[in-house]
Amino acid sequence: MDYKHSTIEQLNEAICTGKVKSEELFNEAMHLIEQYQEDYNAFVTIISKYKKYGQKDTLISGIPYALKDNISTSGILTTASSNILKDYIPVYDATIYKKLKQAGAVLVGKTTLDELAMGGTGTTAHTGIVRNPYDKQRLIGGSSAGSAAAVSLGIVPFAIGSDTGDSIRKPASFGGIVGFKPTYGRISRYGLFAFASSLDHIGCFTRNVRDAAIVTDILKGNDPNDMTTLPDEEVCYLDHLNDDIKGRKLFYIKEICEEKIYQDSDENVKKTIETFHQTVEKLKEAGFEVDEVSINKELLNAIYPTYMIISCAEATSNNANLTGIQFGPRQDGQDINEIMFRARTIGFSELIKRRFVLGSYILQKENQEKLFKNACRVRRMIVDKMNDLFKEYDGLILPASGTIAPEFTHTSKSEKLDPKATVLENHMAIANFGGFPSITLPMYYYKGLPVGINLTGRPREDKDVLNMAQKIEDVLQIKNKVAGDYDV
Ligand code: GLN
Repeated sequence: MDYKHSTIEQLNEAICTGKVKSEELFNEAMHLIEQYQEDYNAFVTIISKYKKYGQKDTLISGIPYALKDNISTSGILTTASSNILKDYIPVYDATIYKKLKQAGAVLVGKTTLDELAMGGTGTTAHTGIVRNPYDKQRLIGGSSAGSAAAVSLGIVPFAIGSDTGDSIRKPASFGGIVGFKPTYGRISRYGLFAFASSLDHIGCFTRNVRDAAIVTDILKGNDPNDMTTLPDEEVCYLDHLNDDIKGRKLFYIKEICEEKIYQDSDENVKKTIETFHQTVEKLKEAGFEVDEVSINKELLNAIYPTYMIISCAEATSNNANLTGIQFGPRQDGQDINEIMFRARTIGFSELIKRRFVLGSYILQKENQEKLFKNACRVRRMIVDKMNDLFKEYDGLILPASGTIAPEFTHTSKSEKLDPKATVLENHMAIANFGGFPSITLPMYYYKGLPVGINLTGRPREDKDVLNMAQKIEDVLQIKNKVAGDYDV
């Protein structure tokens, strides 16, 4: 069977009718890992021995998948792609890993990320850079780089990622696949290494919207071990994928999509904006109402700095236990400060250190009011604005990125905070600010390389976001693609 292009339901049917055995699918995944690991580096750890798990009667039973390496797996190395955790073997399972085991899915490996899930390039892991399956000279984006690459290469039909600013939805765009982050609290984060707790989400990569609904139906649910999880809801997302979308109202932000702003931009950005507007027309024909809405430019420009201030502050506090004492290899030293200083100096890359310096500065007593608390207020203004618009509209659509995946540059590793960071490249953090469900799916190919479209909906309305995304996928007709389907 054509494993690489098969949907979860096709694989499930093949297993149930005896056409293929789960172990054969696993072997196929292993074969692809062997073929691709050296070039693309999607995995930190490969689980090379087949193991049977849990139930037989779920849609993902017997199907191979991958987990981002910041998700706790008892007895299996979990490094968060950081030197400081390079030998860390957890003693407990994340709730989602437990759920996936119970559902019978078969883990093939733990995927590479930007160190501690910070960053968006897939270039800062302690085990090296992750390359874009469509073009090895380009990045796949991060932080969930390996999970995106594994799905885009066809190694697994689904993989799990985490998303604090756009870490599922941006690499999904660069990898030509679907990336879905449901409402904050829909999926338990027990066992996810915290980056910025008020923004962190777990979600999935798949090659079509239907598969994202299938996987999310399994992952979602209240968890007594994570007090931020939402109560259970008695609804199956898969059952509602083809609900009628007639009358659903979408909006896009004028200031981000105005063609005239991009007149002097490179050809790729112009083409993305043009394609986006053509897509809007097609969506109208398909029954959506779509309006252009204007939002104060200052508020939009505040997205990136607000994200950086809040996420660096929370990250500094969350990772304060990586000292070489509680976690990480112990270093010699005269006193506790020297031990911690040495462990952290050796343990972290430049990007992490920069963010911890920023975070410490932001959290200093004298700076808290001006920096941290003000950023929280701006976050509230952005979320209020969105909630206001969500009174009238069911969703926000925008390009997931302005361009195809960038080429590697010598600066991408160090990530100097970019003063030119455009709203077009950073708007997806809005969904983290408000905990809104948000999904990226492929929109078009520019010179054979994918660019995605992003849809963000009302909190708790994951079912509706998936339903609308299904319709968008039906309109755009791009699904189940793996790199190599298009010649670059
Ligand atoms: N690229 C963003 C950052 O640099 C998002 C990371 C994420 O979502 N984990 O932090």
